[in-house]
Amino acid sequence: MKIYIIGASFAGVSCGVHARELYPEAEITIIEKNAIVGFLPGGLLLYLQNKFANLNDAVFTTEQQLKEQHIDIKLSEKLLDCDPAKHEITTDKKTYYYDKLILANGSEQKSLNIGLTSDDEWDPSFKDYDFSNKVLPKIQNAETIAIIGAGQAGMEAASTFIDLKKTVHLIEAMDYPLFKYFDPNFLEPFLTELQKIPNLHFHFNKTVTEVVENEQYEILLDEQKIVSDYVLTTVNVHPQLAKFTKKFQLHSDNTMQTNDYLETSAKDVFAVGDLIHSPLKNREEGAYLPQINHAIRSGIVAAENLQQAQMKFKGGLRTIGTKIFGWHLASTGLIEEEAFVYSNEIATKTFTQTASLVDKTPIYCKAVFEKSSKKLLGIQLLSQTNCLEKINTAALAIENEVTLTDLMQKDSFFQPEFTNIIEPLNRINMGSETHHAF
Ligand SMILES: Cc1cc2nc3c(=O)[nH]c(=O)nc-3n(C[C@H](O)[C@H](O)[C@H](O)COP(=O)(O)OP(=O)(O)OC[C@H]3O[C@@H](n4cnc5c(N)ncnc54)[C@H](O)[C@@H]3O)c2cc1C
Repeated sequence: MKIYIIGASFAGVSCGVHARELYPEAEITIIEKNAIVGFLPGGLLLYLQNKFANLNDAVFTTEQQLKEQHIDIKLSEKLLDCDPAKHEITTDKKTYYYDKLILANGSEQKSLNIGLTSDDEWDPSFKDYDFSNKVLPKIQNAETIAIIGAGQAGMEAASTFIDLKKTVHLIEAMDYPLFKYFDPNFLEPFLTELQKIPNLHFHFNKTVTEVVENEQYEILLDEQKIVSDYVLTTVNVHPQLAKFTKKFQLHSDNTMQTNDYLETSAKDVFAVGDLIHSPLKNREEGAYLPQINHAIRSGIVAAENLQQAQMKFKGGLRTIGTKIFGWHLASTGLIEEEAFVYSNEIATKTFTQTASLVDKTPIYCKAVFEKSSKKLLGIQLLSQTNCLEKINTAALAIENEVTLTDLMQKDSFFQPEFTNIIEPLNRINMGSETHHAF
């Protein structure tokens, strides 16, 4: 079996590696347009934070590691066209014939509606290695940077640049940051602290109408102009729209349509990762879930289904965890602001408890649950201490439709240095929000 995979990032590599385990006799080839494999999308920031010695160290795998697993890797080669009827793909170098094709060519972050010209002249995004390489000196030399989009990537970039003593303008069309993952009031302790940072300027409820490049960049908002040495867009990513993509059935948001087993409208062609629309737990409608864990799991599931449709892809919950400006933020599942997407009435509970009996740093928690059944639907966590791992336990509870009553008895370890008397998940169904002995 000849397996061709387009894109050597999270979805493509995980598919290739799992396919190697499942089909030892298969010929597996990954085609990647970049010069390196497995670049981390936040790699540029990690390099600027001195967490990697070189930019090209910010990877999760290497060409060598893939070759050791007998996966052929073709770098700096770009898929241009595809003919599913003939099982044929054409790159800028050659034509190949496949038995199974996996499209894992992911997403891009170009802003399509703010008058930006071609990326050859101006590279506003840092998701991939080639772009990050070009952007790096511009960021290093800039004293003032404007960031368009205050989602996770934009906030992580802002936090890094503030640590580097730059002045940062963060522009966001919504009235608060990270709106996909957190309810506005919940973020109050965090946002109050951010307002004290003198060289950090938020511009909420503002839409960028145009960016003009003179000696510096002029970012035109509705009735305001910001001048900065550099501009980055960290707006939502969207699927790579290539000519060949249009040969397949697409959803209205340009994600690729697949069946439950991740096969596209063309036989023997699968699509994974940031190209697809996925089921989202506790919502009738699926969603676009551009997240690394989702991409990896979809790659694994596609590999399982290459010879025979046997494993349905379950999609995800939209789980995130990050550290920004010294705060740990994590979220999974439904937030209160989007209660309208859930078919039944929801209720919430917000409470604060100290991290452990030794570490008195508060952990702010908010739970969203179904009012009648008390089924857990979502959790948000915020703290200056590292509480991130708790979100994965919460995600498991939501995936398994666990109720708050069940959670009162969830087994957890106790150790006074690392835990409080009871874990946040045990506690949601107990006591009032404000009066509790611990
Ligand atoms: C700045 C930033 C930071 C992020 N940080 C996080 C994070 O911390 N956690 C998280 O969960 N998510 C994060 N994300 C989202 C994450 O990057 C994506 O969900 C993830 O990369 C999707 O993986 P993928 O393999 O589907 O696609 P991609 O990572 O987009 O990879 C697609 C690959 O295909 C290649 N390719 C594209 N077209 C072609 C072609 N025609 N021929 C050959 N090769 C091609 C590309 O070069 C690329 O290597 C971040 C996104 C951004 C923009």
